[in-house]
Amino acid sequence: MSDAKYKRVLLKVSGEGLCATGKSGIDGKALLKLAEEIKLVVELGVEVCVVVGGGNIVRGSVIAEATPIEEATGHYMGMLATIINALAVQDTLESLGVPTRVQSALSVQNVCENFIRRRAIRHLEKGRVVIFAGGTGNPFVTTDTGASLRAAEVRADVLMKATKVDGVYTADPAKDPKATKIDRLTYNEVIDKRLAVMDLSAVDLCQRSGIPIIVLDMGKAGNMRAVVQGEGRGTLIDAGAS
Ligand code: UDP
Repeated sequence: MSDAKYKRVLLKVSGEGLCATGKSGIDGKALLKLAEEIKLVVELGVEVCVVVGGGNIVRGSVIAEATPIEEATGHYMGMLATIINALAVQDTLESLGVPTRVQSALSVQNVCENFIRRRAIRHLEKGRVVIFAGGTGNPFVTTDTGASLRAAEVRADVLMKATKVDGVYTADPAKDPKATKIDRLTYNEVIDKRLAVMDLSAVDLCQRSGIPIIVLDMGKAGNMRAVVQGEGRGTLIDAGAS
C-alpha cells in the first residue's frame, strides 16, 4: 500500500457531477473526468466505493411538484435515475481498465447486483470499485443519506463529498465575493448551524459511526488523490481536535 492516509474511501458524486455545467442528462467528458480522478486513487492501492446521485435525471420532489405523479413515485423515479448513472460510471471506469461492480438497493437483477454488504466488502478487498446505486431503496430521503449508510456499512475510513468548489464556505462563493473557505468543522457545527453541506441525517450517521466527511473539489485534476494522501484542498468535518 502506498502513502495513502485512508485505506477505504467512499465517494459521493451528485448527478450534477455527471453532466455538463448547467445542463441535465449525462455528459461523456464529465464521466471520463470523474473516472480518471477515481482511477488515480485506485492506483494508490486504496479501496474505493462510489455512491451516485440522480439529480441530473430526476429529483423526486421536483417531479412531484410539477406533475400529477405522487411524491413517493417521484422518489422511486429518482432512485432509478441513480441506477442509470451507476451504469454510466461503471462502463466509463472499465473503459479505463478499472474493474467495477454495481450494487443497487433496488433490485434490477438483469443489469446489476443487489446490495449485499458482505459481498460489497469482498469486491473492495479484491480491488474492484463498487458503485452503489438506488440510494437507500426508500423514498423521501436523498443519496447523501445513502452514502452515509453505505460508508458505515462497509466501514469506510472517510466519506468524500464531491462538489464543484474546494470546500465549505461561509456563504455561496458564486454569489458572495466575501465568502471565505472553512478548512475544518465539527459535526455539531454543521448540524447546529444547518450548513448545507449534506443532509443532516447523513452528517448525524457519520458522527455516530465516527466517519470523517471531506468536502472536496472534484473538478481540480488530482485533488481527490491528493486528499486521500492527506493533502489537497477541501473541508474536513469530524469530531474536532481532541
Ligand atoms: N432518492 C430517494 N431515496 C434515496 C435516494 C434518492 O428517494 O435513498 C430519490 C430522491 O427523490 C432524490 C433522487 O432520488 O431527489 C435523486 O437523488 P439525489 O437528489 O440525492 O441526487 P443528487 O442530488 O446527489 O444528484
